[in-house]
Amino acid sequence: MNPFKKLMQISRGKSPWIYCLNTGACNGCDIEIAASLTPRYDAEQLGVRREGSPKHADILVVSGPVTLRTRDALLNIYEQMPNPKAVVAVGSCPASGNVFAGSPTIFGAVDQFIPVDVYVAGCPPRPQAILQGIAEAAGILAAGKQKNLMEAKK
Ligand code: SF4
Repeated sequence: MNPFKKLMQISRGKSPWIYCLNTGACNGCDIEIAASLTPRYDAEQLGVRREGSPKHADILVVSGPVTLRTRDALLNIYEQMPNPKAVVAVGSCPASGNVFAGSPTIFGAVDQFIPVDVYVAGCPPRPQAILQGIAEAAGILAAGKQKNLMEAKK
């Protein structure tokens, strides 16, 4: 591999910038994500930084099931993120639809539309688990083993 590309790849793993997206969560997971980024849990020791634009982010952190109204936004934001990128699904909702499954306004799991690299279990998961999921995703990026769009279930 080109040494410059290799350096970029390692840097991404050491300092992942994340973009958080709620696709229809009850906000329980979002509160835990916000808590995980406070000084109490010291996400910056992992180099994690919350980014306001998907165009500058390495990792997409998704909470909630995909709804009829948020599917297009999810796809749009995923497309805006530069490659390589990884996706972390926080909580049971983006993994399965959870308590919202079967609702006429819900599509369900996120991996029907975009590939998910790390699932963080829980309803909601604790901040430590969320940080661990982000760290795993950073490791996947550093190793160049992230999934691509072809690996979404569709
Ligand atoms: S996993 Fe639980 S806490 Fe998180 S959005 Fe779904 S219902 Fe809410």
